[in-house]
Amino acid sequence: MKSNLFISEQELDAQRRIASQLYREIEPRGLTFFVETFGCQMNVRDSETIKGWLIDIGYAETDDKTSADLILFNTCCVRDHAEKRLMGNIGALKELKDNHPGMIIGICGCMMQQEGMAKKLLKRFPHVSLIFGTNVLHRLPEMIRRVMDGERIAVTDRANDAIAEGLPKLRDNPRSAFVNIMYGCDNFCSYCIVPYVRGRERSRRPEDVRSEVCSLVESGISEITLLGQNVNSYGNDGSTGMHFADLLRYISDVPGLKRIRFMSSHPKDLSEDVMHAIAELPNVCHHVHLPVQSGNSEILKRMNRKYTREHYLSIIENLRSLVPDIEFTTDIIVGFPGETEEAFRDTMSLVDEAGFAAAFTFAYSPRQGTVAAKMEDQIPEAIKKRRLSELNELQARKTVENNRKYIGYSGEVLVEGFDTRGTETMLYGKYQNFKMVYFSGQPELMNQYVNVRVTGINKNSLIGEIIDA
Ligand code: SAM
Ligand code: SF4
Repeated sequence: MKSNLFISEQELDAQRRIASQLYREIEPRGLTFFVETFGCQMNVRDSETIKGWLIDIGYAETDDKTSADLILFNTCCVRDHAEKRLMGNIGALKELKDNHPGMIIGICGCMMQQEGMAKKLLKRFPHVSLIFGTNVLHRLPEMIRRVMDGERIAVTDRANDAIAEGLPKLRDNPRSAFVNIMYGCDNFCSYCIVPYVRGRERSRRPEDVRSEVCSLVESGISEITLLGQNVNSYGNDGSTGMHFADLLRYISDVPGLKRIRFMSSHPKDLSEDVMHAIAELPNVCHHVHLPVQSGNSEILKRMNRKYTREHYLSIIENLRSLVPDIEFTTDIIVGFPGETEEAFRDTMSLVDEAGFAAAFTFAYSPRQGTVAAKMEDQIPEAIKKRRLSELNELQARKTVENNRKYIGYSGEVLVEGFDTRGTETMLYGKYQNFKMVYFSGQPELMNQYVNVRVTGINKNSLIGEIIDA
């Protein structure tokens, strides 16, 4: 049995002490920060911790990049266009820094964990003084101290992939929150850079997850999304004494917790026990984000996904028979090396058969250091582009088909936002199974649950009316 490694309380206390010293210097000067986040929910969640620290250090948040005293980009490196975009963004800040010499410009996130990247950026952009990776967020006060003292630093070590509990967080969504249940990934899908930059898989202790959920609910949050690269392998290393289905059961009775979502689910690890937990626990939402990546078993093998097309479809079938109103969303990559036209047709037919509510579709992007980047038979960009647009067209039709079955349906919606641009105020929110619906109503209903009946459909969402608030 492997035991989890945690950052010690002493180390965290030392960081908290630096934070409170910095607070006495920074807060009276009225300094502000601006954090821009790229990529997935993990990065969004990391940015909440970064912002939490910055508040504890004495900064105030601003949404005006041009006047901020500290600008930080939280980067993603899953696909290569992100790097080009980041270079442009950073380059554009040079003039701002020239006019505001005290400004700190920093870059963090997954991309900083790529080999050689931090060094390259420090060299190329003299106006950047702070670089750090995903596994050292607990050391932010010390890093800010050093930069304020005039150093230019890059801190990208993996800190033994240890988990830091009890870090500050600035959450700005009053109804819904992301909760990490695990970090890193052990799967090494052959196209994916995540295991190289985010490190080995490690699970949080169930009691830490539950106590975070309890305090979120006490603060008014009623919907949580459990995050992991593969939530279904939670505790598989034996360190937590629980698997994912047990964790769902363990937190589902937190009083006041109305909705539990989770993502992502790797098909190879979605057990019958998890299926039963989804069916039986009243607040586990009937939605599974189940990335399929390809509909062709040979390509799945080359992707190192460890399931076949048939197995994937059997999960969908089994879950639908247990939970009839369940919805699936997915991720799909087209143009993986060696993907023949026939293999691509298998993806198209799987999409046709599976009936996804929505799909996030990507053209394969070679990532240096991954197995697939070295494979022969890379697919030309033009073919990837054509396959992507064919796939998107098909999914658009399937989404409309899926939406149609909701006409006349009614259920509880959590109001997430409103739009006042038209003649009447339109509210929007999601049913528990992730379907988005628009309906007319008063903005005071924000963050509340209302019953809504579906009366029509849009391309990607439903149209409804309130039946009681
Ligand atoms: N851990 C999640 C899983 O396995 O479902 C996925 C995390 S990854 C950040 C999100 C999605 O990006 C993947 O599901 C995959 O479809 C896509 N992706 C990852 N690497 C890619 C690559 N090299 N090229 C194109 N898409 C990629
Ligand atoms: Fe990447 Fe695969 Fe891990 Fe998801 S499961 S993060 S796609 S290696």
